[in-house]
Formats: sequence, structure tokens, C-alpha cells
Amino acid sequence: MTIDLPHFRYHPDPVASGSVHGSTETCACCKRSTGWIYTATFYTAQNVSGRFCPWCIADGSAAERFEGEFNDAYALAGLSEETLVQVTRHTPGFHAWQDPHWLVHCNDAAAFIGEVGYTELAAHPEALDQLRFDLRMGGWHDASRLESFLNHLGQGASAMLFRCTVCGAHLAYADAS
Ligand SMILES: [Zn+2]
Ligand SMILES: [Zn+2]
Repeated sequence: MTIDLPHFRYHPDPVASGSVHGSTETCACCKRSTGWIYTATFYTAQNVSGRFCPWCIADGSAAERFEGEFNDAYALAGLSEETLVQVTRHTPGFHAWQDPHWLVHCNDAAAFIGEVGYTELAAHPEALDQLRFDLRMGGWHDASRLESFLNHLGQGASAMLFRCTVCGAHLAYADAS
């Protein structure tokens, strides 16, 4: 099945990642039923009744009309204003236990791939190594407990996998309930 969704540089397959679902629901912004509806985060002070189609995310109309953001900008400090706007106002967010955040590589926001377990993460050794390093820096000093945690990703805790939009390297952070 080919899906003709708008192109999201920082979230290339929001259907695969579970942020966009096939649905007959009407978009809260354009009032059209496009066949697709966005189900993940949107931060706004306004009362929005309903959810958005991917097109109103891509062109920024949903973020503009409801004065909201799909993604938090705090992890994107230091990037260009253009990238910041692209990620916060034109890019679908994703479901996570903790506050989702965007990873950065090569001075650009990375592309969100999806929530993965150990096997999928281990398919990208550079991402596994980087996550192990980050967790160690974050205070996981017991190596065997850390390896056990990594080995059990996908059960309770999981990894949020990204791919650098510049060099293609994979990177991840751990998310837990
Ligand atoms: Zn719409
Ligand atoms: Zn890179």
C-alpha cells in the first residue's frame, strides 16, 4: 500500500511510528476527512475539539490556528530558528511515557523513526553504544544492571530511535513508564 502523506523531514513515516492512523475522523483544523488522523502530542492553551490531519500539520495551519506546538523545543537549543519552527510547528510528535523530546546530531534535528526494543536497537550498533554511554553518564554505574536494562528494552522500557538527517547515523534515548 502506498500512502500519499505529506513529507516530514523530521518524522519520515508517522504511520509506521504510530503517530498517524488511518481514520474517517474529520480534521479539527480543515474540517476535511482525509483518511488520516494524527493521534500524538499537541501542546496548546486553547481548547481544541478533535484531532488534525497530516496536511494541517505539514503546512503549519493547525499550529498557527490553535497557537500550539507538536513538539517541545527544549532539546533543540542551538539549532537554527528555521529548524526549531519546522520541528515544533510542522512535524508530528510521537507517543511516549515521559515527555517526548527530539534528538540532535550534526547540528540538525534528527528524524524520528519509532519506539523500538532491544533487537531493533541492536541492529544499529552505533545507537546502542551511544545509548549505553548516555545511560552511564546519567548514573548507571553498575555495568551488569545496565546491560540487563538494555537487553530488556521493549518490555516496559523502550528506546526512541532517531536517524541523523545529515550523516545517517542512528541514535536513541530510553523511555520508561
Ligand atoms: Zn486538516
Ligand atoms: Zn549526524
